[in-house]
Order: sequence, then C-alpha cells, then structure tokens
Amino acid sequence: MAKGWCPLCQTTWSNPPGTGCPADGTPLQAIGTLTIVGGAASLDGTLLARSGPNPIGAAVEFLLSQGFQSGDRIEMTGNQSFLDNREVLYIETVRRNLREGTGAA
Ligand SMILES: [Zn+2]
Repeated sequence: MAKGWCPLCQTTWSNPPGTGCPADGTPLQAIGTLTIVGGAASLDGTLLARSGPNPIGAAVEFLLSQGFQSGDRIEMTGNQSFLDNREVLYIETVRRNLREGTGAA
C-alpha cells in the first residue's frame, strides 16, 4: 500500500494517500519515483489511474502530457482505490518533488 506524505509537517505516514494526516488533518499526498512502462504508470510500485473509461491509459497520457517521465521524483494528490482487484492510486494533481535530491529548499 502506498504511504501517505504530509506536505505540512513533512512526515511520511503508513496511512494511505487521500486520508487526513494523523497530526494535523492535512490530506495526505503520495510521493515517490515514477515508472512508466508497458502503457502503465506506477509510483513506487503502486499502479496509477485517472478517471475515465481507460483509467490506466489515461494516467499515462496525463503524466506524459505534463512532461513527466520514468525516474522523476513526484508528489501527487489523489485517492487510493481498487481497479480489477488491484490497488491503484487515482491522480488528481501531480508535481515534481523538489525537496529531495536537488539541494533546493
Ligand atoms: Zn501533517
């Protein structure tokens, strides 16, 4: 299960993305490394989806259209759900994670 990350207290929780931070109630985000392969996108092993008739393909199109590619460190808002008995994360918004690895504040 994808772990939730709180942008306010900058803490990783075992609670899933989309639920409230146990400390301050901020909706938890998902954070990790993006992989796009074989027409599917995943974040640290959790399959990504986007609302529509083809959720998996729509997530890939959405990410590519925003300029993301495999290996990017990203953070996203969305809700964890299930699709065909697989755990997926429905993307609402996504952005590059700039807090790690760049040295930038
Ligand atoms: Zn928090």
